[in-house]
Amino acid sequence: MAGSIGGARPGLAGKLFTAVALALFAGFGGVAPAATTGGAFTPAAAPPPPGSPTGAPAADGPSAGTLSVTSATTSPRKSFYYGVRYPRLSYTIASTQPQNDLRIDVVDSAGAVVRSFYRNDIAPNVPNTIRWDGTAVDGRPARNGKYTFRIGTQTAARVARPALPSTAPAPLNLGFALYGYAFPLLGDQDFGGAGAGFGAGRSGHTHQGHDVMAACGIPVVAARGGTIQYSGYQGAAGNYVVIDGKGTGLDTAYMHLAVPSPLKTGDPVRTGQPIGIVGDTGDATACHLHFELWLAPGWYEGGSPIDPLPYLLKWDLYS
Ligand SMILES: [Zn+2]
Repeated sequence: MAGSIGGARPGLAGKLFTAVALALFAGFGGVAPAATTGGAFTPAAAPPPPGSPTGAPAADGPSAGTLSVTSATTSPRKSFYYGVRYPRLSYTIASTQPQNDLRIDVVDSAGAVVRSFYRNDIAPNVPNTIRWDGTAVDGRPARNGKYTFRIGTQTAARVARPALPSTAPAPLNLGFALYGYAFPLLGDQDFGGAGAGFGAGRSGHTHQGHDVMAACGIPVVAARGGTIQYSGYQGAAGNYVVIDGKGTGLDTAYMHLAVPSPLKTGDPVRTGQPIGIVGDTGDATACHLHFELWLAPGWYEGGSPIDPLPYLLKWDLYS
């Protein structure tokens, strides 16, 4: 049961919102990569549901009773921009009024509101959900980082404060993290020796990507979702995929896949979605993923490749 939160602490009444949750991030970030699937390709399920509309403030004048939050959860704890699963808040309120106009903010770790959702005439004791698509107010992808959902009213006069049930073992935790890129392999890997690096000598050219060494059969996922710019086969690259990244000028390329990707040129793809499995097709002497990162305007569209290793190392830390 949640405690009443209306008017109990007048000192907070001047604040528009108070965070519902004291985000607990202890242990966060220690998530191990997903286990491999034994080489079986795991296509994505149905496309994820879209983000929730942001809505608008109540046109007839915002109104809410004395509120408390009786339950609230956020899942998943980690999401990727344009990913397979968007950050999702599920919440239920209690109130002295039958209809309540709410505002739910996505707040970054510095306390800044990056996105607001307005929900009008919300009834108490009925579950509600908000799904954030990872974009800020300007429509651009939100920055990497930790966020929390914050539930409040649309007026400054009434404040929804945290419900801290006296019988609950832990406070509500509505924190989650959002990242722009996923590490492109789901399984054990290493970054190889000097010859694996960007710019290493190759016969007739220099290496345009980084070779991430991994067993054949390990799933390869999209580091950034967007559109499949090209999916096909070439003598040197083997089976390969190029992705035009959503919300960025960067393109990513994935080569030597064991079998052709089930995704075709022009298909939409989500960040973290499986696109193939590690192989050694084309000009490869061992199983590995050859990964390329291209600056805008992109892969063979006037852009140029850059050393992806610093980015891979960063993505590997949290994926
Ligand atoms: Zn390579």
